[in-house]
Amino acid sequence: MDQPVELIAAGTRVRAVSWAGVHTVIELPDLGVCFDMGICPESAIRHRRVFFTHGHVDHVGGIAHHCATRALRKLPPPEYVVPEDHLVGFEAVLSGFRLLDRSDLPATFVVARPGEAIDIGKGTRVVPFRAIHRVPTLGYAVTRTRRSLLPELVGKSNDEIVALRRAGLVIDVAHDVVEAAFCGDTTAGVIEREAAVRSARVLILEATFLDDLVSVRRARETGHVHLDELIERADLLQNEAIVLTHFSMRYSPAEVREILARRLPASLRDRVIPLLPAEPTGRTLR
Ligand SMILES: [Zn+2]
Ligand SMILES: [Zn+2]
Repeated sequence: MDQPVELIAAGTRVRAVSWAGVHTVIELPDLGVCFDMGICPESAIRHRRVFFTHGHVDHVGGIAHHCATRALRKLPPPEYVVPEDHLVGFEAVLSGFRLLDRSDLPATFVVARPGEAIDIGKGTRVVPFRAIHRVPTLGYAVTRTRRSLLPELVGKSNDEIVALRRAGLVIDVAHDVVEAAFCGDTTAGVIEREAAVRSARVLILEATFLDDLVSVRRARETGHVHLDELIERADLLQNEAIVLTHFSMRYSPAEVREILARRLPASLRDRVIPLLPAEPTGRTLR
């Protein structure tokens, strides 16, 4: 339960581990981003910059390990992007560990505010948005500028297009694509509220509760998504892939698979990928 799983969602690598109330860390190596640090797996140490969604321990518990291991290995100090409401708490946590560890634990903090894009280079921006949880929480949309051929040139041969470009004509147009969105902990209302959540090529969404074991009302009260609410909103979601995370530990991986196979409508089934350890391939007899 504490080893990251690697999967491919709409061509994008997702390396992550996420269980409700235990720990969540989400790495998107192709996009160069890492969200939350509920635990610090070896693969996450290389990320200098970490975007935090909120202050719950299952999302921040690994920060001291991340910071200390980078210092130990003489890697550049980490940069932690944190929601404005939690800056004081994050600073206090690291100050406490500096006292205990009798070391500097160098790190810098960047304040994240909804709608204020953070440029991370290579044409990639991370745009925070408000999620809906028991404590102030931000989600993040990873946006890239792509160029595509002008619509009137689609269907022309390569030679024709090369000739037009050589003649100095504009042949393509720039547009922003939301490559991925991660909502942190949230209720399903974030789907209606945030266009980036609906349009992201890869949506990484929590689905803490999956059936009658916990009611929709209770899911909302605790600030989480219930599968019923996701199913209701299937038509709003334009995503190529939806990675479901943060399942309650009430469900075993096998139960999560079984419930999703039974309950998801066809419009979601083909593009939903549950973040789960690989299925056991059988017992090894000695
Ligand atoms: Zn959580
Ligand atoms: Zn939480």
